[in-house]
Amino acid sequence: MMAQFLEIKSEHQDALLFYRMGDFYEMFFDDAVAAAEALDISLTKRGKHLGDDIPMCGVPVHAAENYLLTLIRKGFRVAVCEQTEDPAEARKRGSKSVVRREVVRLVTPGTLTEDALLDARRHNYLSAWAQVRDTAALAWVDISTGAFHVMPCPAVRLSPELARLTPREVIVAEGAQEPLRDIAREMGAALTPLAASAFDSTAAEHRLTDLFKVGTLEAFGRFDRAELAAMGGIVEYLTLTQKGNLPLLRAPVREQARDAVQIDGATRRNLELTQALSGGRAGSLISAIDRTATAGGARLLERRLSSPSRHLETVRARHDAVEWLVENRAIAADLRDTLRKVPDLSRALSRLSLERGGPRDLAAVRNGLEQADRIADSLCRLEMPPVLAEAVQSLMGHDALLERLQSALVAEPPLLVRDGGFIAPGVDPELDEARQLRDEGRGVIARLQAHYAEETGIQSLKVKHNNVLGYFIEATATHSAKLLAEPLSQRFIHRQTTANAIRFTTVELSELETRILNAGGRAQEIEKRLFSTLCDEVLALAPQLGDAAAGLAEVDHSRALADLAVECDWSRPQMEDSRAFDIRGGRHPVVERALRQQGGAAFIANDCDLSGEDGTGADPARIWLLTGPNMAGKSTFLRQNALIALLAQAGSYIPATSGRIGLVSQIFSRVGASDDLARGRSTFMVEMVETAAILNQADENALVILDEIGRGTATYDGLSIAWATLEHMHDTNRCRALFATHYHELTGLSAKLEGVENATVAVKEWEGEVIFLHEVRRGAADRSYGVQVARLAGLPASVVERARTVLEALEQGEREGGKRKQTLIDDLPLFSATPPPPVRPAPPAADPLAERLEAVNPDQLTPMEALNLVYEMKALG
Ligand code: ADP
Repeated sequence: MMAQFLEIKSEHQDALLFYRMGDFYEMFFDDAVAAAEALDISLTKRGKHLGDDIPMCGVPVHAAENYLLTLIRKGFRVAVCEQTEDPAEARKRGSKSVVRREVVRLVTPGTLTEDALLDARRHNYLSAWAQVRDTAALAWVDISTGAFHVMPCPAVRLSPELARLTPREVIVAEGAQEPLRDIAREMGAALTPLAASAFDSTAAEHRLTDLFKVGTLEAFGRFDRAELAAMGGIVEYLTLTQKGNLPLLRAPVREQARDAVQIDGATRRNLELTQALSGGRAGSLISAIDRTATAGGARLLERRLSSPSRHLETVRARHDAVEWLVENRAIAADLRDTLRKVPDLSRALSRLSLERGGPRDLAAVRNGLEQADRIADSLCRLEMPPVLAEAVQSLMGHDALLERLQSALVAEPPLLVRDGGFIAPGVDPELDEARQLRDEGRGVIARLQAHYAEETGIQSLKVKHNNVLGYFIEATATHSAKLLAEPLSQRFIHRQTTANAIRFTTVELSELETRILNAGGRAQEIEKRLFSTLCDEVLALAPQLGDAAAGLAEVDHSRALADLAVECDWSRPQMEDSRAFDIRGGRHPVVERALRQQGGAAFIANDCDLSGEDGTGADPARIWLLTGPNMAGKSTFLRQNALIALLAQAGSYIPATSGRIGLVSQIFSRVGASDDLARGRSTFMVEMVETAAILNQADENALVILDEIGRGTATYDGLSIAWATLEHMHDTNRCRALFATHYHELTGLSAKLEGVENATVAVKEWEGEVIFLHEVRRGAADRSYGVQVARLAGLPASVVERARTVLEALEQGEREGGKRKQTLIDDLPLFSATPPPPVRPAPPAADPLAERLEAVNPDQLTPMEALNLVYEMKALG
């Protein structure tokens, strides 16, 4: 057995080998050590190999899914090795023969299909990147739904595209990992190298035409060599991991970078589209707006939010669909109730195609089609916008399969085929009989007994059972003569005579006996056969079923957006092919929701107009320069406008009373900054890298939000960088932008640059305190109220007082014609008058913490060293 294990293991070096032994998957050697630790299960030993104990651990087969999930999450790959013959067969080959085993599947993060291992509301993408000479492409697939896409993707585009897709696993040719390494690590995706031959574009073409059973791929579009290679790599990897059982893939869809709004990874993170900065889904845009009732609808919402469209017609058509459902509330409400009963059709289909499905997956297809039929019935006669009409069209025409499944399956089938009992009575006479025999063996025997009693005229005749004879017919000795004579003797075969009884059997009875004994097994066999017939029938219609699943998702998605629009009072944006951006009464959906949940103050709606049309014909404002104190609501305003543009192009209504939006090509955001210690970059460095990306890439249809550029460095450095950035955006990028700053000096630029207008978030000062109005108005802020905000934050009163004094002196200095700062500082009274600073007692002689601090020069520390220092000081203190 060990020899067999080692041989199989040698072919799967990069995976843990789950070696099936009876009811357990066992792991040996290093696999066992690693798995025992990762799963927190006990490590034992079994036998010896080359004189050493063999470490071993195992997990029960029935609970394997959970263990698999943990291992996959922790970054392992698992090769599942099953027994592929009956132990009895192995014994026939010889007493020492080992049961034949084979790896039936390689479980990797990108190739999961089980519901328990997947998040129902998110896609699980596997992607592949391939380079052929100077072209490169990215392909991606969700094998749990069959979605298959490809797009041209040079190395520089990898980061934003992968940030959009967030694949769980990325495959790439051996040796070409470099451009992907950091990106994959950052997003927690596994990076899997594959032999370069897997990406051969000629072989890829064959693989794909075979897979889709077409003569040429042209039906799906024209693909270049790199695209073919990337897609071929995926198919090869699936063949490898699924051991020949290819999942159902939908025809590949070719995407173009220019189809979707370009949003880079940093912007996605900053805007918290599908994940909050804290890491989870809670607090993200998607969690605030998701009203979908089905898993398919939820995945579609995620897809649309991640890739808002840049096609005017597409966006308008989606708004039409939402509008229709906003106007037809009763229909939308009915739809929601129906959709709630819709199971995850796509994932059920995918499991069936990989022979990993069970009766419940067939039932999912049935239940999905039932609801699809109901929806189609209620909508098909209505006048609807094309998006809905097309979706409804895909829900029709499944009657034959639906009827077949309805009559073939019981209402609530078990999970596994071997549990049996999922085929409804009346479908297969043989099965009904087998079950009848199994369940009512005694009843059948009783009926047979009555039949024999009547046939022989012997009322006391009995059918009995014992362990020696099995079933037999017994009559009292007085009837021997009759039964032993013609014609009955022809049928009643004598078995035994006892003191006062005579026993017989009949061909019928012994057949019945065998059938009763085998009935259970036979029922199971027949059900298994019927299951696979039904699977074949379902899979033969896979493309139509895939369309129906997509149709259901589309209806649910539009319906959910309509519900959201009504519930939160959103409006339909007016979309145009221009550079307008005129939002009236805009709100931030997540902040508004949070405020509402806290039951505090209401969210203050704000206008934003970057349209660049002022009726005068002059080059008008495309950039708003926003000033105002901290906490006034600048970041909120910036983000809300980026989100409004994104939501509109994702097909949604917008959180505003009205909006006129010219299609946005790219959204960039530089908001706040978090130290990227792990990569050894300071806040300032991160900020500059992101700003550089914006200035280098933003085109004139981009929408840019920039928050507090230059904060991370000395004042004049920062101010100059902010200044130059604003000018560059105005003159070169010529994009629409919101630019928040605390450098009041910049507000003077609006006089110089035509396209720049000042705006400020208003505050009121009342008895020395600031009151935040959260109202955005035209004009510049008069001051920054930093001292007041500091007081709100709980800075000691003495510090606040002192700051006031310093500020007054500085301001006075400025008014008096720009005294040099140094002079000002020299002039400042050394201590504030009230209250006197407490005299600090002399530090104790040996304070290790103070000594350690004394020894460092903060300016020479790398971020990592600084972090380590904090740890060290914590330990000291
Ligand atoms: P800034 O960027 O100016 O420091 P933020 O945008 O972070 O300010 O806003 C600070 C807080 O003010 C937010 O967390 C939110 O609770 C509140 N806030 C911001 N904008 C509004 C608004 N328009 N209406 C109501 N509250 C708001």
